[in-house]
Amino acid sequence: MSAAVSFSGPGRDCALCPRLADFIAGHRAAQPDWHNAPVPSFGPLTAGLLVVGLAPGLRGANRTGRPFTGDYAGELLYPALLKFGLADGQFRADPQDGLRLLSARITNAVRCVPPENKPTPLEQKTCRPFLKDEIASMPRLRVILALGRIAHDAVLSTLGLRKADYAFAHGARHSLPGGLVLADTYHTSRYNVNTGRLTVEMFETVMAGLLPALQKNAG
Ligand code: SF4
Repeated sequence: MSAAVSFSGPGRDCALCPRLADFIAGHRAAQPDWHNAPVPSFGPLTAGLLVVGLAPGLRGANRTGRPFTGDYAGELLYPALLKFGLADGQFRADPQDGLRLLSARITNAVRCVPPENKPTPLEQKTCRPFLKDEIASMPRLRVILALGRIAHDAVLSTLGLRKADYAFAHGARHSLPGGLVLADTYHTSRYNVNTGRLTVEMFETVMAGLLPALQKNAG
């Protein structure tokens, strides 16, 4: 399959999901210094790894404009990407921290912040074509890492695959048609870390398990 290495994503004023557009409009008025728009993906389209979260956090990516930046969710993810050589620089939870992603890209299944972190099924479906286009625009993609069950389900729906054939489980790696691997981890949320559901060691074990497929991709 030949695929163009370009992807534009939704415009800043995408209003395909009226509830989310209204929610963002309210925050634009209240917080004019925040990003308050669909959050663009971060990292090169030539990456072998695509990390998929559910949606931007209100005071995280929706505020800073970079996925998993500005709230707790990036505190586990970015250090692990640095540790395993998929990023370089330093993570300081700020888009100006100079951190670069080398062979990883980070996105969300739903690109606008939803109230209470809960997009509706219709909103997930409405935003799906952007993730589909993005995946098709990554010619060296080998592994999709889903952060949590909802992201896992969103990836399967985006690829037109049945959820019943690929059950979510932390640490699972599913071989998908066409050679892609879908890997699962519990979400890197503060709640999961504070409750011990996900530890640094558990997350690093998942990341380490992806390296053989990524190194094959790089070769
Ligand atoms: S969630 Fe996606 S489809 Fe919906 S308004 Fe935002 S960018 Fe557009």
